Amino acid sequence: MARVLNGAEIAAAIKQEVKAEVRELGVGGIRPGLAAILVGHDPASEIYVRSKVQACEELGIYSDLITPRETVTTEEMLDLVAALNDRDEIDGILIQLPLPKQVDAKVLLDAVSPAKDVDGFHPVNAGKLQAGRPSLAPCTPAGVIEILRRSGIPMAGQRAVVVGRSDIVGKPAAMLLLNENATVTICHSKTRDLAAVTREADILVAAIGRPGFITPEMVKPGATIIDVGINRITDRTEFERFFAGNAKREAAFAKRGSVVIGDVHPAAFEVSGAYTPVPGGVGLLTIAMLMSNTVRAARMRRGV
Ligand code: NDP
Repeated sequence: MARVLNGAEIAAAIKQEVKAEVRELGVGGIRPGLAAILVGHDPASEIYVRSKVQACEELGIYSDLITPRETVTTEEMLDLVAALNDRDEIDGILIQLPLPKQVDAKVLLDAVSPAKDVDGFHPVNAGKLQAGRPSLAPCTPAGVIEILRRSGIPMAGQRAVVVGRSDIVGKPAAMLLLNENATVTICHSKTRDLAAVTREADILVAAIGRPGFITPEMVKPGATIIDVGINRITDRTEFERFFAGNAKREAAFAKRGSVVIGDVHPAAFEVSGAYTPVPGGVGLLTIAMLMSNTVRAARMRRGV
């Protein structure tokens, strides 16, 4: 039986550590602070931002939620970011994506001070990550590494294959694995004979954005699978393809008319030695790592 790598337990442990660090910083008169900018009313974004603000409250981190009107311009957003860059009590600035069409997201993300870039999206932080220098790494890939490390899964010398090369997940995940001394291959939509490559992986990271894309024949028996994907399926036929006979999922589908699935086919997990489930895996680490990055940013910026 494959081992389930429990994201909830690992996220809770990280949060406890962050809470203790915040308390310790408090003794020295420092309270880390996070500013979150949310534009518009995208339901998923509203849930994410609310969870992030709530996590700050739980851990004793100061938070400031800023909600500009939906018609905000790039210029106005740049002014807002500049003001947050200058505010001393703010250590981290988070811009919830997606932004409305009229706002130039790239220009805006580049305007965030790299010292306060707790999402790790700024080119300066991407460069530092590549150069193997201490930096703020993107939260989801950082969570992938924490899961592996805290589950005692060796990375050094292992063959790691990352499917997906986005700036937010795939590329930084590959870079972090490389920094852990794994032998890393990055795959994407133009990769030839993908299955032959993924079958080489001791650690297979799936960050594709396609439901159940990684099938059993793409997995080396005993490999560790990290499923970053979060996909919602609403179609009955598609549901059947993945979850036929799964009573728990059947009940969830009947109740909500949808279920969440990762980028890995459930049958592929059975071939693995260990895997992160969806939901309940990597997704839960993202907020914990955001909290951790906020405290890290506070320490680095304030020279603690
Ligand atoms: P992107 O769409 O930005 O990137 C997807 C990547 O997958 C691309 O590099 C693309 O290749 C590659 N890809 C697409 N189709 C294929 C294929 N047929 N074969 C091989 N590679 C393919 O997605 P993200 O990186 O932003 O997200 C990936 C997944 O992770 C999504 O499901 C997303 O919801 C989830 N996610 C989860 C988070 C969490 O907190 N757990 C946070 C962020 C994302 P190419 O570059 O050639 O187009």
